[in-house]
Amino acid sequence: MALSSSLLGFAAQRCPRCHQGRVFQTSAFHLAHFQNMHEACPACGQHYEPEPGFYWGAMYISYAFSVAIVVAVGIATYVLGHDPATWVYVTGVAVATVLLVPLSFRYSRMVMLYLFAGIDYDPKVAAGLTRRRPSTPPARQPSELVN
Ligand SMILES: [Zn+2]
Repeated sequence: MALSSSLLGFAAQRCPRCHQGRVFQTSAFHLAHFQNMHEACPACGQHYEPEPGFYWGAMYISYAFSVAIVVAVGIATYVLGHDPATWVYVTGVAVATVLLVPLSFRYSRMVMLYLFAGIDYDPKVAAGLTRRRPSTPPARQPSELVN
C-alpha cells in the first residue's frame, strides 16, 4: 500500500522514506510487544534510529500527549457527567491514560521519526518498491537489501 501523503504515512505508522514499510513489528493491541520497532524499514531498508538514544526525546512528546489526554478526558467528564465527583475525574483520567499508553508511545516515536530524524519522503524509492512488488510478497529483511 503506497501512501503518498506524509500525514497518512505517519498515521499508519509507516516508514518516513517510502511510506510502505511498517515501523513497528506488531499491532498496537499486542500489549506484550507493542513497543518493538523494526531496526530498519522492511520495504526500503531505511534505518530507523539515526543515532544512539535518538528516541529519548520521545519521552517529552509522550508527556505532552499525556497532558492532552488528561485535559481532554477532564473536559469530557465535566461536560458529559455534569461536573461529577472528584473520584470520577481521577478514575476516568487514570483509565484513559493507561489504555492509551500504546498509542501515546508509538505516536511520540513517530513524531520523532517524521520530524527530527531528517528522513524525507522519496517518491522514487516508493515508486521503485511498487514497481518491483506488483502483488504483496513477504517483507524483505534489511540484510537482503545490503547486497
Ligand atoms: Zn521504507
